[in-house]
Amino acid sequence: MSSLPGFPLAAGTPRVRLAHLPTPLVRPARLAEQLGLDLWVKRDDTTGGAEAGNKLRKLELLLADALRRKADVVVTCGGLQSNHARATALACASLGLQSVLLLRTADPSAPLPRAGNVVLDRLAGAEVRLITPEQYRERDRLLAEVASELRASGLEPYVVPEGGSNGLGALGYVLAMAEVRRQLELGLAGGRRFDLVVHACGSGGTAAGTVLGARAFDVADRVLAVAVCDDAPTFEARIGAIVAEARTLAPSLPEVTVGRGAELEVDQGSRGPAYAVATPEQLARITLVARLSGLVLDPVYTGKAMSALFERAAELRGKRVLFVHTGGLPGLLAQGDALAL
Ligand SMILES: *Cc1c(COP(=O)(O)O)cnc(C)c1O
Repeated sequence: MSSLPGFPLAAGTPRVRLAHLPTPLVRPARLAEQLGLDLWVKRDDTTGGAEAGNKLRKLELLLADALRRKADVVVTCGGLQSNHARATALACASLGLQSVLLLRTADPSAPLPRAGNVVLDRLAGAEVRLITPEQYRERDRLLAEVASELRASGLEPYVVPEGGSNGLGALGYVLAMAEVRRQLELGLAGGRRFDLVVHACGSGGTAAGTVLGARAFDVADRVLAVAVCDDAPTFEARIGAIVAEARTLAPSLPEVTVGRGAELEVDQGSRGPAYAVATPEQLARITLVARLSGLVLDPVYTGKAMSALFERAAELRGKRVLFVHTGGLPGLLAQGDALAL
């Protein structure tokens, strides 16, 4: 099943090469021992250079669609230090597309910070428009309004939703699981399927694609999506909708169940105080993990996901776990003061 190139994409589905693939599948031996897990890490933090992270896999499909539609400007949104917005800005620059980023911040009149992802957005030449958290709640309407404005000025816009998380973007993570299946077939990670895949969940597209791909390619029984902001019911509804949309684009994908104890479960216990705010314990674990493994996590996403593994280590004792490292380094560097170093 994994021998079909590009499966499950329909023949002719366009994809632009943005990510350096396959990403490594590694064993952090001392961290695995500390957790008491047969732990492996999929290094999707190494899908590229400054543009790296999980968003690049989604953008391979989304920006190919933009190019096919002859777009010349891409509009998307996210938090002020959004990894997705940064990856989009840099990928657009590489493809000769303009980008407009609607970024959420408490005070849009404050000057843009010269730190983290925002530095890279500006380097890439993206047009940054700051919006309030209230405006952000209406993000889909706002994205459409900006697209109309750009169309009126003679440009052809392409809207990428928050996180690149729609059915098409999620197929990037179906393909990621096909990539893991090929690695297992080559004998990597002992060649055996996993009990569980664990990753950070912020807009749901990675979760939707990962559970579909894990089932389609027999990579794992279950996926644990660790929420970094909203609660489990909110994410389950969102992921369910993205799964349904992805299955209309690739009907050969299996049905999957979403919910507590299902094939895709959302863990809301490691959300921390707020989006992009980690607890002191989560921050301490970021330091511990770096020292045990050389893996650098971030306080917004991957640090919370790994923290959930620490919380569940006893319950998962001895299990084969694949942790997807989704990136986020600029978010860590923007919060250097939060770490007690
Ligand atoms: C966006 C992001 C996630 C979450 O992925 P979603 O598909 O939005 O749920 C996880 N980790 C990092 C580093 C991210 O930038």
